[in-house]
Amino acid sequence: MSIVGLHSVGLCIVWMNIIHLVTSQREASPTLKRLQEECSPPGSSKCPVSVPKSELKERLSPTQYRVTQQRGTERAFSGKYYKHSDEGLYHCVVCGNPLFASDTKFDSKSGWPSFSDVSKSDSVKLMTDMSQGQRRIEAMCSQCGAHLGHVFDDGPKPMCVRYCVNSASLEFKKHTTV
Ligand SMILES: [Zn+2]
Repeated sequence: MSIVGLHSVGLCIVWMNIIHLVTSQREASPTLKRLQEECSPPGSSKCPVSVPKSELKERLSPTQYRVTQQRGTERAFSGKYYKHSDEGLYHCVVCGNPLFASDTKFDSKSGWPSFSDVSKSDSVKLMTDMSQGQRRIEAMCSQCGAHLGHVFDDGPKPMCVRYCVNSASLEFKKHTTV
């Protein structure tokens, strides 16, 4: 069990409490409750944006399809945006929803692109993920339900949040505006 967060104070504790609420009791703040609203599986009628699977199979690479539609994970250190440092916005590869800004990207040395925040508060949804025998928080595109990655509490201060995201879920565009 990770105890990284135990060494943090202030807002870290606040965020950890939120994480705890989400993961343990599923009693979260109204904001997190909204973020946890069902938009799953990807492309279901519950999602604001629904892209036909047939179109995605043609448009996306096999890895992009597996990650975004089947909750897969790209191999560590293999993604095209892991070392990427240009200034701009990272969009959802499925629906184009702006997700992360380059100024929140940092090198976590995890092997996957890592962000300390989202570009807009409602751009990413969080869901409890009990797969692989562990309790994690899954990050999904709020518009189409595409799987992005997971959220951890070992990011940089003050928020201590790390969005660990697959490059395969992202499409980068240089200095576009939100
Ligand atoms: Zn999307």
